[in-house]
Amino acid sequence: MYKAYSILVLVCFLFFACAESKSDQTTIDSEKKVLSPPPEYALVLHGGAGTILKKNMSEDKEKEYLAALNIALNKGEEILKSGGSSLDAVEQTIKYLEDTPLFNAGKGAVFTNDGRNSLDASIMTGNDLNAGAVAGIGNVKNPISAARAVMEQSDHVMLSGKGAEQFAVEIGLETVNPTYFHTENRWRSLQNAKERESKAMGSFDESQDYKFGTVGVVALDKNGDIAAGTSTGGMTNKRYDRIGDSPILGAGTYANNKTCGVSCTGHGEFFIRWAVAHDISALIEYKGFDAHQAGEEVIMKKLKSVGGSGGAIILDKNGNISMPFNTEGMYRAYVKPNERIVKIYK
Ligand code: ASP
Repeated sequence: MYKAYSILVLVCFLFFACAESKSDQTTIDSEKKVLSPPPEYALVLHGGAGTILKKNMSEDKEKEYLAALNIALNKGEEILKSGGSSLDAVEQTIKYLEDTPLFNAGKGAVFTNDGRNSLDASIMTGNDLNAGAVAGIGNVKNPISAARAVMEQSDHVMLSGKGAEQFAVEIGLETVNPTYFHTENRWRSLQNAKERESKAMGSFDESQDYKFGTVGVVALDKNGDIAAGTSTGGMTNKRYDRIGDSPILGAGTYANNKTCGVSCTGHGEFFIRWAVAHDISALIEYKGFDAHQAGEEVIMKKLKSVGGSGGAIILDKNGNISMPFNTEGMYRAYVKPNERIVKIYK
């Protein structure tokens, strides 16, 4: 009798211990009310938000964007699938987007008021909160790799301007002549912005230039590690070595294994002042929100109410993904095992 009772107690103990440890690693899908384990890996990316309307997009251009977003997803997924790190997946996916002139990062970056390309990027790893960033550089082919090098090969988190360029040369990153970044499309956008400014119409033409085009990636690898990165040319017609949110950790980029990874795109001044990326992480950490709830709160409510336009990609520790934006469109995509979404418009 005593033996049977002991066995019953032991079975109950094992059952509850098991359920407890599982609840740490599983998510409750609130609609279906079923427990689903986090995906083996996941990667989400954006190619900028803004006035991106189907009526202004040619069929060919749309195809080009969709193809580029798909190739970018493939690059990242290949790394994650074969057991690579989220850090490598983020860097390599962003490198591809930087090399693609469609986006405002690397080749394809917008121009400053004085006709230069001044690039910003940052990267962060969620397992140790390590991070690196560069701002205002014009000689490195892939700014995201410069950001990673700052994280891994310097004693600092953020380098800017001439110093950052010198660092890149010293450690042997691939450098280019600044003319490498010139594209006719972006040059025309600068001329349009200046013309509008001279007519006191504001420096943005809502339909033409109000596409931010920054790129960002967040990944979760098979070890459960999250990484996030963002790369940009900033905003057309920017002056005085202006630096936006993209290279600022907690504003444009953030990663923490305890919460989520975030990369933002939009009107940087607002993202800096509202510490958007960290705010999203804080809602998950302190209020128990998921990626969707945190994105709604910060991008769709807080930012929108103050006129801060843009969006974010969020991948939380349970593998939930959200891609909120309060603009007309956002180039965005994600991949998980057996799941792939690529979208542009609302
Ligand atoms: N957030 C970037 C900046 O303000 C612009 C963008 O997202 O396209 O520099």
